Amino acid sequence: MIRAARAQYYGNPLYPLQPTDKTIEVLVHSGRKVSLLPETITDLVQRYAGSGPRYTSYPTANNFSGAYKPGHQVDALASITPQQDLSLYLHLPFCNTICYYCACNKIVTANKKKAETYLTYLQKEIALVSNLIDGNQPVEQLHFGGGTPTYMSDRQLETIMQSLTDHFNLSTSPERDFSIEIDPRTVDPARIAHLASLGLNRLSLGIQDFDPQVQLAINRLQSTGETTDIVNAARSSGFESISVDLMYGLPLQSVRHFEKTLEVVCQIDPDRISLFNYAHMPHLFKTQRQIVDAQLPSPSEKLNLLSFSIRYLLDAGYSYVGLDHFAKPDDKLFAAQQSGTMHRNFQGYTTHRQCELIGLGVSAISDINGSYSQNEKTLDAYYTALDHSNLPVAKGLVCSPDDSLTRNVLTSLMCNLKLNYTEFSESNDINFTEHYEEELTQLKAFAENGLLKLSDEGISITETGRLLLRNIAAVFDVYLPGKPAKSQFSQTI
Ligand code: SF4
Repeated sequence: MIRAARAQYYGNPLYPLQPTDKTIEVLVHSGRKVSLLPETITDLVQRYAGSGPRYTSYPTANNFSGAYKPGHQVDALASITPQQDLSLYLHLPFCNTICYYCACNKIVTANKKKAETYLTYLQKEIALVSNLIDGNQPVEQLHFGGGTPTYMSDRQLETIMQSLTDHFNLSTSPERDFSIEIDPRTVDPARIAHLASLGLNRLSLGIQDFDPQVQLAINRLQSTGETTDIVNAARSSGFESISVDLMYGLPLQSVRHFEKTLEVVCQIDPDRISLFNYAHMPHLFKTQRQIVDAQLPSPSEKLNLLSFSIRYLLDAGYSYVGLDHFAKPDDKLFAAQQSGTMHRNFQGYTTHRQCELIGLGVSAISDINGSYSQNEKTLDAYYTALDHSNLPVAKGLVCSPDDSLTRNVLTSLMCNLKLNYTEFSESNDINFTEHYEEELTQLKAFAENGLLKLSDEGISITETGRLLLRNIAAVFDVYLPGKPAKSQFSQTI
C-alpha cells in the first residue's frame, strides 16, 4: 500500500492542494522531495485561522450554566422515551504518567486506591441514573474515555461492565459500537483479549507521533513495537474496528519527519485515523507549560503538516470524512457520511445519530433531547453529590428552538459537508434562506475565497474549505460575538 501511495503521491484527484511552480520543496524522511502548500493557500488559511470552538456540541460547552441544576437533569432523563436508543460515555480519569500536551480532565497518580474509590462512586451514579429512566432502551453505543481507561485493572473494568449490565439493556447486536481508549503502554495482549471478552468491539489507540525527539518533548515514550503488538492482539481478539489518534503541531514536529510516523501508521493499517490539531493553551492547561514554546512549529509549518498528512492518507487509501477524521472506504463511518447519517458528538464523529447520550463519571457530558449537562469536574464535588444521592451535575443548558435549528445546520455542514435549502427548510419547518439571511451574506466572502460554493440549491464545502470548517461553522454561532473571551478556544489550524 505504501509503495502505491508514493507512486500516486501528487496525483490524487480528490485533493486539490497540489504543488505549483511557486511551492517550496523539502526532503522528507524517505529521501523524497515533497512540495509544501502553495503560498496562496497558506495565506488564505492563515488569514482565517484564529481561535474557535471545535463544535463537538452547539451551543458549545463554555456556554453551559450553573443555573442548570440536577433537577433539570432528572427531567431530561425522564424525557427519554422507550423508543429512543441510548449511548453511554464513561469517564475514567486516572493516568500513570503525564503527557505534556494533554488538555483532558485527568488525574495522574500512582495510588491505585483512588481508582477503587472512584469505582464505588461510579457504580452509585450508574444505579442512580438508570433508576430515572423509564423503559428498557437498548444501549447501542458505549465508550470508555479518559484519562486512561486501562489504568483500571481487568477486575475493575469487569465490575463496571457488570454494573452496566445490571442497570442498562446493553445491546448484543453486531451493529453496536462498544469502544475503549487504549494507551498501548498500559496493556498487553492478554488484557486486550480480556477487553474483547467483556463485549467491547472497537478500540482507539493514542499514538500522536512515533518520532523519539517529539516523544521526549511531550513526555510520552511509546515504541512502534509495543503499539504494533497491541494492534495485532486486537485483531486476533476479534475487535471489529481499530482507530488511532495522531496529533500535529507538537514540539519539534516537521513534515520532514512526520512522514515516518504516517508510514508506520499505514503499515499498522487502522480502520480510522484521527489527526488532531495540538492546541497550545498553557494559560488554561498547566501541564502544557512543560512544552517549550520555541520548539513549536509555526502556523505555516502546522498547516503544511496538516496538508501533507491529508495528502499522504488519501493516497494511502483513506477517505477524509471531515474535520480531523479519516476512514477506510469500507468503514461504517465513511458509509454514514456518504448516506448523510453521520453525526458529531463529544467524542468526534459517530455513526449513531439517533442515540441519547448519557455521560457518567467526573466531568462527563450528557446530551439528551435538547438538554446538555456536565458532571462536576473534581472528585470531591462528584463524590459529595453522590454521598447525598444527588446527580453530580455541575452545569448545563436547555437548547432553545433556535439553538436546535442551528445545531442541525452545523451537523449538516460539518458531517455532510453540504446543506440543501429545500430539504433543510422542509425538515425543520422554516425558510432557510430567510432565517439565515445574514449568515448567508457573511458566507459570500468564504465563497469568493473558494472555501465553499453557494448556489440556488444550497451550500457545499470545497476541499480547501474543509481545512476551515470550524470558521465556517462559527458564522452561525450566535453565542460567539463578544463572549466568551476567544482565548478559551484553540486555534482553528
Ligand atoms: S494524553 Fe491521555 S494518557 Fe496522556 S495524560 Fe492525557 S489523558 Fe493521560
